Amino acid sequence: MNKGKVYLVGAGPGDYGLITLKGLDCIAKADIIIYDRLVNRDLLKNAKPGCEFIYVGKKSSNHIMAQDKINETIAENAACDKIVVRLKGGDPFVFGRGGEEAEVLYDQGIDFEIVPGVTSSIGGLAYAGIPVTHRDFASSFHVVTGHAKKDDSLDINWDSLAREKGTVVFLMGIGNIKHITEMLVTHGRDPKTPVAFVSNATNYRQRTVKTSLEDAYDCVRREGIKAPSLFVVGGVVGLSDKLGFYERKPLFGKTIMVTRTRKKNSDLRQKIDELGGKTFELPTIDIKDKENVGRILLERLKRKTYSHIVFTSHNSVDIFFKSLIKEGYDFRGLAGFRIASVGSATSRAIRKYGFIADIESSQSTGQDLAKLILKDIREGGFDSPSVLFPCSEIASRVMEEVMESGQVDLDRVDLYTNTVNMDIKDELLDILKKEDIDYITFTSSSTVKYLVEILGDDKDLIRDIKKVSIGSVTSQTIRDLGFDLDIEADQASIDSMILAILEDVNK
Ligand code: SAH
Repeated sequence: MNKGKVYLVGAGPGDYGLITLKGLDCIAKADIIIYDRLVNRDLLKNAKPGCEFIYVGKKSSNHIMAQDKINETIAENAACDKIVVRLKGGDPFVFGRGGEEAEVLYDQGIDFEIVPGVTSSIGGLAYAGIPVTHRDFASSFHVVTGHAKKDDSLDINWDSLAREKGTVVFLMGIGNIKHITEMLVTHGRDPKTPVAFVSNATNYRQRTVKTSLEDAYDCVRREGIKAPSLFVVGGVVGLSDKLGFYERKPLFGKTIMVTRTRKKNSDLRQKIDELGGKTFELPTIDIKDKENVGRILLERLKRKTYSHIVFTSHNSVDIFFKSLIKEGYDFRGLAGFRIASVGSATSRAIRKYGFIADIESSQSTGQDLAKLILKDIREGGFDSPSVLFPCSEIASRVMEEVMESGQVDLDRVDLYTNTVNMDIKDELLDILKKEDIDYITFTSSSTVKYLVEILGDDKDLIRDIKKVSIGSVTSQTIRDLGFDLDIEADQASIDSMILAILEDVNK
């Protein structure tokens, strides 16, 4: 039996979070994803390794792939036993030709399912603070295509549409806006009716422009309104002043590049999203466990009891605990250890494994933490203090030096390698050339060094972007590499970095 199957999935109007759980599951199990222009590309990062992507971006005047060819591609792949996800903007059955694509599958006997999505015609307006219905203004709504057929006509009953009291939403209407507004007015709709254009709804470029029906055509030219835009006609438009929550968010419209390690969904990203900013996540660093780390740690811990254990990154925490769990280590062995951590993010990582740091430095420097440990040792009156330091291969030697100066024994175990991720170069250059980035955040010196290394001769592309550093060591690296530092967080934490950006935005 053919195991191939096609899921026609609605990706929602743009905001990453506006896809359904079922849609996300489909992306995760797909062998091949065929997606449109209006789909949020970040969703594709949930695909499994080896998943194939085909872009069939459609612009109404410039079809990258004709509909017949799209149908053929979907069917061919399903016939080869593949799980095919056809990912479409908004809802697949709202003007996306999803119905036609499903018919082709039915005719060819290919198994398929439809996964509905949040349509821009409702969800997009919601982000602009425009409810499609409201007891005082509209008790129905009508979603209409403004896209003309081949003979240039719009197949619309203007008489009844103009007389309708409900909200009318036009999709793909910008090119025909003159005709649409003229028809509504000549068929009896009040020229003073409030209207709005909502462009790039639910993403960081969202823009809501309000005017009256009679001015709409001039407004498009005056304001430079372009597709993708919704054109909405009706009294509900007036509510956007009160209900337009999205464009009021504190980081709305701000673009922030986040340089990080290869780890999905960083804290920073989630927080920026919440505040309405747009994150471009670039994993500049490739983290790989060194061989046999679990066994090496196990041997150390068997041979010796330490008074202290030090973590200077959340990666060390994760690799330390995970590799010991794999080795079947009994964590009661750590019972007497004092745990030292650099900054609150590292402490949070430690908590995930059921341990609580005894010593935490608020600064991101190893030097600071090392001094705190020495102090703890002196005050604690340990007989033979000794420190276990599981860390990155490239962690600085400062911990060893300070311990040596205090005559404290330290065992360093390099847990992982930390190498530059050149794979992102094309994506990085593409983003820097196409997007207007407001901020770049750096959470460690490595993120700075690696970003500059990846950029190579193009490093001037980040010259004018505001640089945000997590602490003094990272700031110094930024300066050493020839850039100005714009913002430094007060505390070595993600929250503190975000606060610093918010302050800058409000300046
Ligand atoms: N299936 C989609 C609509 C596809 S037709 C849905 O349910 O939303 C494409 C048109 O939808 C665009 O020309 C535009 O009018 C509208 N559209 C889709 N996404 C949009 C967005 N994020 N902002 C504004 N308009 C959008």
